[in-house]
Amino acid sequence: MNQHPPCPDTPHPLTRRSALVRGGTLALLLTAPHIVRGAGIIAVRVWPAEDYTRVTIESDTPLKTTHLVVPSPPRLAVDIQDLQLDPTLRELVAKIQPDDPNIARVRVGQNTPEVVRLVFDLKRDTRPQVFNLAPVAAYRHRLVFDLYPAHPADPLEQLIAQRMKELGSTPAPAPAGKEDPLGSLIGQLGDKKPAKPTTPPKQPSKPKQPEPAAPAVRRSASGIVIVAIDPGHGGEDPGAVGPRGTREKDIVLSIARRLQTRINRTSVGGQPLRTYLTRDGDYFVPLGTRVAKARRVGAQLFISIHADAFTRPEAHGASVYALSQRGASSAAARCLADKENASDQIGGVNIRVRDAQVQRALLDMSTTVQVQHSLALGSAIIKPLAAIGDMHKKSVERANFAVLRAPDIPSVLVETAFISNPQEELKLRTAAFQEKLADAIFAGIRSHFAAHPPKARSRKA
Ligand SMILES: [Zn+2]
Repeated sequence: MNQHPPCPDTPHPLTRRSALVRGGTLALLLTAPHIVRGAGIIAVRVWPAEDYTRVTIESDTPLKTTHLVVPSPPRLAVDIQDLQLDPTLRELVAKIQPDDPNIARVRVGQNTPEVVRLVFDLKRDTRPQVFNLAPVAAYRHRLVFDLYPAHPADPLEQLIAQRMKELGSTPAPAPAGKEDPLGSLIGQLGDKKPAKPTTPPKQPSKPKQPEPAAPAVRRSASGIVIVAIDPGHGGEDPGAVGPRGTREKDIVLSIARRLQTRINRTSVGGQPLRTYLTRDGDYFVPLGTRVAKARRVGAQLFISIHADAFTRPEAHGASVYALSQRGASSAAARCLADKENASDQIGGVNIRVRDAQVQRALLDMSTTVQVQHSLALGSAIIKPLAAIGDMHKKSVERANFAVLRAPDIPSVLVETAFISNPQEELKLRTAAFQEKLADAIFAGIRSHFAAHPPKARSRKA
């Protein structure tokens, strides 16, 4: 029962192709054997990333599979029933890139007259997820392989590794069982003694029990302030697409990286700021995972970056949003939240497997304090944004954005401009305008921290 007026649809670049497929035009292009039996493969896509590599096989009917994980050497074997090997599926072999962190190569063959077998040779121990997605947006049926590393890198350790690289040192081992690598990093930084070359680095020749972190180390863990920057969409979810084909996911990642550069060379009250990007590549990250990742590193602010789109090309300007779990500040804000929240369906979430952490993050209700701080952060960003371009809305709007639901982190979503507006699309593509946007958001972060100094960092379990 929906009492609200319907939200307008935004144009999608794949809609035409999708209509073509549905209309049967594509079937005429297929040779007879493909029509005779089994599903037709529409496309294969590979999204390699350090977090996980996704392989998608899009087809006109759902694909039935069985799969088997072989541990040594690590492989994933998949049998797809009622399928004839065709050139589109064969393309998968060439689509695996040498620098894919998870897949070494894939082999494709017709195992029996009815069964196509795929064998993924993996670069490391992997926990694969294999699942089907029903048609959504411009996509038909998708069969998805998500190849997650069995031993994922700790994002805090990665922040430390980056920091240590800057300082030309290597991190100390974390205490067993009580890992707080960031704490030990900051402990070392806090000491600030020049590294003594007298002690050679210890080789792990025999297992030794590292000493627990000293209280001083824990105290000095407050020395770093992490800002989570969340580039919207990614991978199978391109986000909004401009009239010239500019994809929101590419623009917002570029702006996020420019913002990262600014943040990482800044300190607030003597505490160095560090950026945590919830997505640092072209792959899909579910909305709840973005929130969980930011909480896990103890981020003190969360800023999601997007580009707006509307059916009327005249719509223009930037806007900033905060969470409302009880109604939206306007019908337009509600529609925007609906559209952004659809990222999980378009990007493709495996609904059978939900991270417990993600579940928790989504179940917690945001506090009044979080919302107040989010509104303050939003206002602080609007001021410098208004100085560099038009504003679509002059005050912080509110709606139920899934990605803003961290109950303990002030969170805002910035719509930088309308990618559906031909002039703004052109601007969004330029380095100059992306720099200006990064400058403006960064100025907002600084003025927010001036009014609300960051707290001592604490790691969320
Ligand atoms: Zn978006």
